[in-house]
Amino acid sequence: MKKYDKELEKSYDPLLVMEEARRCLLCHDAPCSKECPAKTDPAKFIRSVRFKNFKGAAETIRKNNFLGDVCARVCPTEKYCQKGCSRSGIDRPIEIGLIQKFVTDFEKQTNMKILEKGRNNNMKVCIVGSGPSGLQAAASLSMMGYEVTIIEKHEKAGGYLRYGIPSYRLEEKVLDNDINTLKKDLKVKFIFNTKLGVDVSLAELRKQYDAVILAIGYSKGKMLPMFENNSYVEVATDFLKRVKENKGNIEKIDFCIVIGGGDVAMDVCSTLKMLETKQVIDVIYEDTDELRASNKELQLARELQVNLLCGYKPVKVENNTVIFEHRKLSSQLSVTADKIILAVGQELDLNNLELEVVNNNIKNKKHQIKNNLFATGDVVSEDKTVVYSVKHGKEVAIAVDNYLKGGK
Ligand SMILES: Cc1cc2nc3c(=O)[nH]c(=O)nc-3n(C[C@H](O)[C@H](O)[C@H](O)COP(=O)(O)OP(=O)(O)OC[C@H]3O[C@@H](n4cnc5c(N)ncnc54)[C@H](O)[C@@H]3O)c2cc1C
Ligand code: SF4
Repeated sequence: MKKYDKELEKSYDPLLVMEEARRCLLCHDAPCSKECPAKTDPAKFIRSVRFKNFKGAAETIRKNNFLGDVCARVCPTEKYCQKGCSRSGIDRPIEIGLIQKFVTDFEKQTNMKILEKGRNNNMKVCIVGSGPSGLQAAASLSMMGYEVTIIEKHEKAGGYLRYGIPSYRLEEKVLDNDINTLKKDLKVKFIFNTKLGVDVSLAELRKQYDAVILAIGYSKGKMLPMFENNSYVEVATDFLKRVKENKGNIEKIDFCIVIGGGDVAMDVCSTLKMLETKQVIDVIYEDTDELRASNKELQLARELQVNLLCGYKPVKVENNTVIFEHRKLSSQLSVTADKIILAVGQELDLNNLELEVVNNNIKNKKHQIKNNLFATGDVVSEDKTVVYSVKHGKEVAIAVDNYLKGGK
C-alpha cells in the first residue's frame, strides 16, 4: 500500500539531473520559458544546471517564483512549460518539473539564503489569505521594502497547499520551509485564526494599512441541491482537509462514490484508495475524451484501481443510493455506497463583504478593486492553478507599489 503522507514522485540525484539537463537543446527564445505563466524561466535554470551551476539555477527559480519548490511538484507541466518544449520533436519533452524539484531541494539542503527584505519604505500592506497568491504577493512586497502582514482564518498558512493538495503530492515540510523564509528572511508577520468579515472588518483594515489585498481564494466547496442535508454526503475540499488535519487517520470507508472529474476528484479518489477504501467509483459528467484532470493525476487514480465511469450525471438520491443517467445514451445506474463525496468545483465565499462579482470573480481592474483595495489569486483568475496564483501575486504587488508610489 502506498503511504498517504510521503511524496510519491521520484527525485533526481546530481547525476540524473545532469543527464536530463544535457538533453536540453538550449533553445534561443525558448518556448518553455514563454509558456510558464509565473515566468520561472526554465530555459535559464536548465542552462545553469547543464553547466553544473546549481546555485545559479536556484537563484533564478526563487527570484522569479517564490513558490518554485511547490510548483515543481504540483504544476500541470504538460499544459505549460513542457507543452512547448522543442525536445518533444526529437523524443520527449525535458522533465522540467523534476529538474526544478532537484534544484529547489539543493537550495534547502545547502541552506542558501536568496531573498531578503528591501529597505523599509515605512508603508504597511495587509494581505488577507495565505494561499499561494497571498504568499507570493507578500514575498514580492517585502522585497520592495513594505511591511507586510498576512491575516488568515485558519491556524496555519498555505490555503489549498496546506488544506487541499494531498501530502503524497506535496509534503507539508516543503510549505513550512517557504513560510519560514517569509517569516525569518522577509519579516512577514502572520495573524492566524482571524476571519475577515467576522473578526475584523474590511473598513478597519483599509484604515489601518496603506493597502489591503484580498487573496481569499475560492474557499467553499460546491454542493448540488439534491445532496443538501444528506448525512452520507461530504464536499471534496472538506474531506481532503479532514484527512490532512488527521494525517490520514479517519473512519474506515469500504465503498465510496465520488462525483466529479477534475483534479480535485482525482485527489479524493487516490486519497481514498491510499487509505485502503476497497471500492471507489468516480462518476464523471464528461466523456472519456473530454476529461479535465491532469495526466499525472489520472494516471495515479488508474494505477490505484479507481473505477472511472464517464458520461453520467446524478438525477436522484435517496440516503446513500444515487441514480445516475448517461448524458447521451439511454442508460441508468443505481449505486449504493457507504459514502458520497462531491467534487464538483469550488466557489467564492464572500461572507458579508460587500464586493461586486463579475463572472464568478471579484470585480477588479488590473487587480485594483477600488482605491487602496486589491485582489489576487483564484478570486480574480480565469485559470485557477498554483502557477497562476503566483503570476497574480507578482502582478498585484506591482499594482500596489504603483498605486502607493503614485500617491493615494
Ligand atoms: C484539492 C485541490 C487540489 C489542487 N491541486 C492543484 C494542483 O495540483 N496544481 C495546481 O496548480 N493547482 C491545484 N489546485 C488549485 C490551487 O490550489 C488554487 O488555484 C490555489 O490554491 C489558489 O490560491 P489562492 O491563494 O488564490 O487561494 P487559496 O489557496 O484558496 O487560499 C486562500 C486563503 O484565504 C483564506 N481565507 C479565505 N477567506 C478568508 C477570510 N474571510 N478571512 C481570512 N482568511 C480567509 C483561506 O483560509 C486560505 O488560506 C488544487 C485545488 C484543490 C482544492
Ligand atoms: S524548450 Fe525544451 S529543449 Fe528548449 S530550452 Fe526549454 S527545456 Fe530546453
